[in-house]
Amino acid sequence: MATATLTIDLDAIAANWRRLDRLTGPDVQTAAVVKADAYGLGITRVARALAHAGARRFFVAYAEEGAAVRQALGEGPQIAVLSGHMTGDTEMIHDLDLTPMLNSLEQITRHLEALPGHAFGVQLDTGMNRLGVEMLEWQAVAPILIEAGPELLMSHLACADEPEHPLNEAQLRTFLEMTDGTGLPRSLSATGGILLGQRYHFDLTRPGVGLFGGMPFEGAQPAVTLSLPVIQTREVAAGEAVGYGCTWVAEAPALIATVAAGYADGLPRTLSNAAVLWDGDTPCPLVGRVSMDLITVDITHLPEVPRSLDILGPHQTVDALAEAGGTIGYEILTGLGPRYLRRYQEQAQ
Ligand SMILES: *Cc1c(COP(=O)(O)O)cnc(C)c1O
Repeated sequence: MATATLTIDLDAIAANWRRLDRLTGPDVQTAAVVKADAYGLGITRVARALAHAGARRFFVAYAEEGAAVRQALGEGPQIAVLSGHMTGDTEMIHDLDLTPMLNSLEQITRHLEALPGHAFGVQLDTGMNRLGVEMLEWQAVAPILIEAGPELLMSHLACADEPEHPLNEAQLRTFLEMTDGTGLPRSLSATGGILLGQRYHFDLTRPGVGLFGGMPFEGAQPAVTLSLPVIQTREVAAGEAVGYGCTWVAEAPALIATVAAGYADGLPRTLSNAAVLWDGDTPCPLVGRVSMDLITVDITHLPEVPRSLDILGPHQTVDALAEAGGTIGYEILTGLGPRYLRRYQEQAQ
């Protein structure tokens, strides 16, 4: 079989959630952000594992993703939708009991008119300038809105992965200014914010990437292994080139393995001539360009031809691979394509 295998360690994801939960006080609830198909790992199995670990609140980007979480978990857990209440979402929000995080006056009006009495939260813009109600608008609508009983006031930090960045403190101040005295539950931090310390924790945290083994949570357990089967090997003479554009030329006779995965599977083309794959503990350089479905690897130094080579695993985290490709762990994770066979590891419960 030429299908690559993505092994997802659900126990590691559960352990990462518990560790992040322990970084905050006993009164601080830890939610789980499972947008983008649980960062590419599969929303159904991941949401169930997190619910089993103790997560009671889940965040997704779009209402459709919320529907998948509701289907996986059934009634009970709260599912918050970060894009808020968009036209066309009303029925789904109502029928599946989703909680939109309203981002604008338009959304606030839409929600209160379409679904009076239905749960909602409000996302405030404290300086990221991406999503959320801004200060002046908030000052205008806060008195009415607070009356309507939002379940959560939340905001998002733009530079939480840089602890020294002055915007963190500035956003914290703005968030306090906008929410002090409301008496409502508050949330400011994703993974990076949790690590900034207690002043950033408020009532609820929203970790995503840290659950899946990604930076900036250095204490995270890696959660994925990606093994690519070797389809073919060939001997290449000194002076011969490998792959599109002849970007790699053998300096000496070499044995090249062609493995099954490429940029169509989320392995960026910027990994060309820049990444390493692993045969157990032995690194093997990726040579030539990453093509759509295939990668070529120099295995001259291996004692025998392996059945597969690992590109993610204990020796290479998503962040290490991301660095080789000039991107971030989030992009590697969420890019992991639909063609992989997803295999879930979980201790019997
Ligand atoms: C994606 C996202 C999160 C999770 O962020 P991580 O950095 O992955 O922990 C939390 N809150 C909001 C608003 C988000 O968009």
